[in-house]
Amino acid sequence: MYANIIVDISHQKLDKVFQYKIPKEIENGISAGVSVKVPFGKGNRLIDGFVLETTDICDYDDNKIKSIAEINEKNIPVEGTLINLAWFIKNTYGGTMNQALKTVIPIKKVTKDVVKKTICLSCKENIQRQYIEEFKRKRAVARLRLLEELIENKCLDYSLVVDKMNISRATITALEKLDIIEINSEKIYRNPIHIESNGEYNIVLNEEQRKVSEDIINSENMVHLIHGVTGSGKTDVYMDIIDKYVNNGKQVIVLIPEIALTYQTVMRFYRKFRDRVSIINSKLSQGERYDQFERAKRGEIDIMIGPRSAIFTPFNNLGLIVIDEEHESSYKSETIPKYHAREVSIYRAKQSGAKVVLGSATPSVESYYECEAGNYKLHTLVNRAVASSMAKVSIVDLREELKNGNKSMFSHTLQELIADRLKKKEQIMLFINRRGYAGFVSCRSCGKAIRCPHCDVGLNLHNNDKLVCHYCGYETAMMKNCPVCGSKYIAAFGTGTQKVEEGIKKMYPMARVLRMDMDTTSKKDGHEKILSAFAEGEADILVGTQMIVKGHDFPNVTLVGVIAADLSLFAADYRANERTFDLLTQAAGRAGRSTKEGEVVIQTYNPEEYSIVMSAKQSYENFYNQEILYRTLNNYPPVINMMAILMTCENEQILNSCSKEIQAAIKEADADICYIGPADCNIKKISDIYRKVIYIKDKELSRLIDIKNILEKYGKDKGISDNVSIQYDLNPLSMY
Ligand code: ADP
Ligand code: ZN
Ligand code: ZN
Repeated sequence: MYANIIVDISHQKLDKVFQYKIPKEIENGISAGVSVKVPFGKGNRLIDGFVLETTDICDYDDNKIKSIAEINEKNIPVEGTLINLAWFIKNTYGGTMNQALKTVIPIKKVTKDVVKKTICLSCKENIQRQYIEEFKRKRAVARLRLLEELIENKCLDYSLVVDKMNISRATITALEKLDIIEINSEKIYRNPIHIESNGEYNIVLNEEQRKVSEDIINSENMVHLIHGVTGSGKTDVYMDIIDKYVNNGKQVIVLIPEIALTYQTVMRFYRKFRDRVSIINSKLSQGERYDQFERAKRGEIDIMIGPRSAIFTPFNNLGLIVIDEEHESSYKSETIPKYHAREVSIYRAKQSGAKVVLGSATPSVESYYECEAGNYKLHTLVNRAVASSMAKVSIVDLREELKNGNKSMFSHTLQELIADRLKKKEQIMLFINRRGYAGFVSCRSCGKAIRCPHCDVGLNLHNNDKLVCHYCGYETAMMKNCPVCGSKYIAAFGTGTQKVEEGIKKMYPMARVLRMDMDTTSKKDGHEKILSAFAEGEADILVGTQMIVKGHDFPNVTLVGVIAADLSLFAADYRANERTFDLLTQAAGRAGRSTKEGEVVIQTYNPEEYSIVMSAKQSYENFYNQEILYRTLNNYPPVINMMAILMTCENEQILNSCSKEIQAAIKEADADICYIGPADCNIKKISDIYRKVIYIKDKELSRLIDIKNILEKYGKDKGISDNVSIQYDLNPLSMY
């Protein structure tokens, strides 16, 4: 047996690997992540290294390979734990050890000093009061918000104010000119958010919250799921548990989807844990991220908050991992290795004897299934923490509307409610599950859709004059005649956000409308600008795709309309119901977050679909029971495990023969494994690359991993055509 060993992980040398023989006596002690001493260089000086993986294939001349000297018996450094985690990721999700290591271990890049700016209050209390009055009178909402926040916190991080509070630079400069605030710059990057907070954390858990917190702390179980309705105060439960761990000298990782990492959320953690908390997000440069990980390793912080990749924080004494909104698809990596942060968390927790707490208002079917199976422990919060009623949800059958002669995209119910809210000066959100002007363009004469020349998809019409491919970005001018039959009856189909916006403007010319979709948010900060404008009351109606549904609180929104709930149902995908239920439930949660009562209207052509019915009733359990029945009958995860093998190649012939070769290799590896394919992917070609897929299914995860490992080895040995690239996706979130 041989071991691949890395002797230097602190620099950009992750791919510099040395091979050593494993002496028989220590063979049992060698596995990924184990720290060893090895002879190195001409003088055979003993240096420390880490085992990356073991193999029976010798890459060099067997006679020239040196042997490992000994195993370092002292406690395992965190690097060892992370290398072992990388091995788990490589083995479970496929790809190379190098790709896994680069995912797990951040790479040091030379970083420049970063100037850090803070905004501090610089005027007396009576002046502050005067300005508060003045800003209120003048309805200068942004100025008022910044001033109030500063009165509470004295100083605020500049970038936090701009990025997370959505306050414009102009507003800040205006306050500076009035001598209300001063802006301080300080060099050397330490903590991405630096707050001298006066605000006190003073929430006392209610009975229900306290019970969940205590149950989790006192439980022997490793993984817990908190199923709590929106507004039930899950975050405060997390913080209570985190507090206990930190006080016992343990460290904590908190995963929150990036889109939900709002100013309010971050501040809640800072108020309670002050500078023991750090945060990473995708806006940090690699160097900044590295700095935060170094601080974690040195023990300068106890709590790391961040999206998916925060799970790799190099804490030495990890005690707890919290995953908020655990059902979110952003926890799964879209690039190789396609790991799921929930599964990786559970492995990490096993490594360090930590607990995992998952939380959601709409748990993933997987996690709920694990609870039913007794593997996770379920806790529920059924009441809202702050008294406010749940929104009233009604379903409108669009087929009936059409029968009654309503050809517009807004049902009578929705029209009446929109008019009512506009009159009351309350806000409205209209949600549609698609982007672009009007979906695909096709010819009414010959029925052909206009397609992208590089991809197997239709082109979308933008701004009435441009055709765009959403997969490869190809653009061309909208044509006057059908390229196939020459007829002039070509037009766009379906509805999109732009069409909803136009419809609203026609019906309610006085309404101020904001639109949020891929087109309006493609510019930097576009997203945040639209949301803050809406929050400041600059519009009455926000029209958008699913990006408006998640993670934002607008207290003045009292009506949410779902224009066509069905669109996500048609995705040819076993998770379509779950996604629909989740989106509709979250959308309903947007209405009536304050004391004003909220209403939700779901328009649909399939009013009897259980995902729609159950989301209107806000009944997760009933949805789950139906859904798990469907998954059981059809043999879909989580009842079984499934692995997608995606094969891509520029040359269709090579791809065809290669996919048959892989099919044969699967049969040879495991004669009775259940497999489907090879078949063309739903989208057969993207950017001139052809795509085929094979699915393998089994109850036993290990059986799928064995096949993957055999195929990976087969690819290396027999050399499947270099032109074909093969990717694995375990329990894929959407079908290929
Ligand atoms: P969830 O994440 O479950 O949707 P949040 O954690 O965002 O809910 O809590 C909703 C609101 O309730 C927050 O403003 C929070 O500060 C408040 N809250 C939570 N727990 C309590 C409590 N015990 N007493 C008073 N307010 C609370
Ligand atoms: Zn035609
Ligand atoms: Zn294309």
